[in-house]
Amino acid sequence: MNHRITLIPGDGTGPELAEAAQRCIKATGVDISWDVVEAGAVAMEKYGTPLPDSALDSIRKNKVALKGPVTTPLGSGFRSVNVALRKELELFACVRPCKYHPGVNTPLKEPEKVDLVIVRENTEDLYAGIEFESGAPGTGEVIGCIERASSKKISPGSGISIKPISEKATRRIVEYAFQYAEKNGRKSVTCVTKSNIMKHTDGLFMRTAEAVAKEHPKVPYGHVLVDNMCMQLVQKPELYDVLVLPNLYGDIVSDLCAGLIGGLGVAPGANIGDKYAVFEATHGSAPKYAGMDKVNPSALILSGALMLRHIGENEAACRLETAVAEVIREGRHVTYDLRPDAPSGTRGMADAIIKKIEED
Ligand code: NAD
Repeated sequence: MNHRITLIPGDGTGPELAEAAQRCIKATGVDISWDVVEAGAVAMEKYGTPLPDSALDSIRKNKVALKGPVTTPLGSGFRSVNVALRKELELFACVRPCKYHPGVNTPLKEPEKVDLVIVRENTEDLYAGIEFESGAPGTGEVIGCIERASSKKISPGSGISIKPISEKATRRIVEYAFQYAEKNGRKSVTCVTKSNIMKHTDGLFMRTAEAVAKEHPKVPYGHVLVDNMCMQLVQKPELYDVLVLPNLYGDIVSDLCAGLIGGLGVAPGANIGDKYAVFEATHGSAPKYAGMDKVNPSALILSGALMLRHIGENEAACRLETAVAEVIREGRHVTYDLRPDAPSGTRGMADAIIKKIEED
């Protein structure tokens, strides 16, 4: 069966990683016609927008995309392509499996105990983009309004970011986490918030999660405060399996977990909605290494494996994951992040993965 899939190479190290992932996926024998579209700095230069309609239209048509990382220059007013994609396509769940691969450097004594799946809410929370700049005229009005409604004082000149959390979006993400756990035979779901402090946002998230958990009595459920969870993930990661979190904690805890399994170079991810799915690595565009054939392609290749599973190509997904795991375990053709004496670059590591798939 032929699959038509959108490919966004991205910018920075994105294009070389996308090429490596494309070649490895091709080696599995799955028949894919790639619809290659531009987004990020490349698109900004050509079309004056980092996310042209052509990119969105392609994903809407094909329903599935593999995306390389894109740069969001700090403080430039350049809209984050990732945030915009999630919003436009209603990609409400960010799913990041974190499993240790033997051969990867990790600070943990027993890293093989790490086998987690982060399910992060993608549309709300402090990432909703509702912000008021310090000193701007509208900000004074917002501060006045909050002070009147809450009888609390806010320091003059403060900047304000708003944290909306709704029952509807929380129910949707927690339901997704339970369904994921049930479908994939995972052992538990843990909700992570700071509900003791933010009672009306994180508290709502926690209470909604408890209600959804009652509808899934066969999956063990718990709640842990995010600060405690950060410590526990380092000390006793084996206690946890699927974690479901609001947007901001999800972002931070994902990177913590990527660190546990040896860094961003091996951490895959997926952004899932009811209609569309975009697969991408956890890491960014690492622009300082662009064009240097240096960075690890594993995270995007493993994101490609998640994509293959999503389109029903389970056997190919397993072969791809096994090949990546073997190459990492052998350590002969891996990038600088896995072996400081860096015997391979991006292309060389992808070649070794392809060779493993072909020998399989
Ligand atoms: P980054 O993930 O790009 O890089 C941080 C560091 O991690 C790098 O300097 C490098 O040492 C290491 N690293 C990252 N990817 C690696 C890989 N594949 N192999 C080996 N090492 C790797 O994070 P950053 O520097 O904070 O962000 C750079 C840009 O990427 C920013 O503009 C940011 O907005 C963007 N970004 C994009 C995405 C995305 O497209 N999904 C995600 C995060 C950040």
